[in-house]
Amino acid sequence: MRTILLNPGPVTLSRRVRQALQREDLCHREPEFAALQNRIREKLLKVYLLDQDKWAAALMTGSGTAAVESMITTLVPANGKLLVAQNGVYGERMTQIADRYAIANATITAPWGAPIDSEAVARALEADPAITHVAVVHHETTTGRLNELDPLGAVCREHGVAMLLDAVSSFGAEAIDFDRWPLAACAATANKCLHGVPGTCFVIARRSALEKAAPRSLYLDLAIYVSAQDQSGTPFTQSVQTFYALDEALDELAEAGGVDGRRARYQNCMRRIRSALRELGVKPLLDDDESSCVLRAYEIPEHADYDELHDRLKSAGFIIYAGQGAYAGDMFRISMMGDISDKDVERLVEALATALGR
Ligand SMILES: *Cc1c(COP(=O)(O)O)cnc(C)c1O
Repeated sequence: MRTILLNPGPVTLSRRVRQALQREDLCHREPEFAALQNRIREKLLKVYLLDQDKWAAALMTGSGTAAVESMITTLVPANGKLLVAQNGVYGERMTQIADRYAIANATITAPWGAPIDSEAVARALEADPAITHVAVVHHETTTGRLNELDPLGAVCREHGVAMLLDAVSSFGAEAIDFDRWPLAACAATANKCLHGVPGTCFVIARRSALEKAAPRSLYLDLAIYVSAQDQSGTPFTQSVQTFYALDEALDELAEAGGVDGRRARYQNCMRRIRSALRELGVKPLLDDDESSCVLRAYEIPEHADYDELHDRLKSAGFIIYAGQGAYAGDMFRISMMGDISDKDVERLVEALATALGR
């Protein structure tokens, strides 16, 4: 029996994606690699029906954080300033990145689990005209909250400020409004909602935003990836096998009905698990309408213990995910990413009942 990963990436691979790893060895300076890379870049833009003249996908070898770091350290101009609107670990990480590279920054912080206050962002932008970019996490994986970007996008647009979006745990499953939100770029990875293998991450950047680029890192210079890849090249060796897997995973996503199909699938599974947990007296951290379709955080009931719950589920073939930081010991998380069948979900429901039943 295969182990089902319910952590937010890496994911349980489909047989098809795993088999793609076995394709033939390839030199990254050969035309076959160029074709593979070009194909993936096109498919990534197609996920959200983006125009190739306006947007460019940059493929990199690294985990999701590499894409986020590349976006921030390239796209905030030399005299620019970043405002990070944060309400979880991944928002805080964007502030750490800005600090590490000495990029001028400010933060608007909401407590974990709470929504981002777009009025507070508006006030910050009014008070500090030096701010050129607002960075925000779309789906804050710490809590499962899907940050509402319509009001925040409107505030940014009104103030003529561009947005940098960490869509690492939403790309492929949640709607991203590339037109209405004034996005300069969004960063994501192969091994979350796209169901690929860890090792490839990417940034989708507005081409016009690259004109003002101020790369502070060599390896993570987004601009050199775009210019090399536009000419079918790559600045550095890429993780070829994970490219194969991503190529296949993107076909699977398209066949599964694209973003809408994947979201519906996650929602169905999530609903089933949530109602089973409700019957067991387990409460979710957030309401349905605040949550992503991708992941839910649940409170660990009084009579249970995280490590014990984890180990019992692990022996039944399921890996759940602990709460981070302040939530450690109090929360557990269940993510729906990956090749998870209805049968797997039913088995999980049974395993949860056995593990949590009194
Ligand atoms: C997973 C994740 C990341 C990146 O984490 P890595 O460990 O570098 O893959 C960044 N942001 C969010 C919101 C995530 O869920």
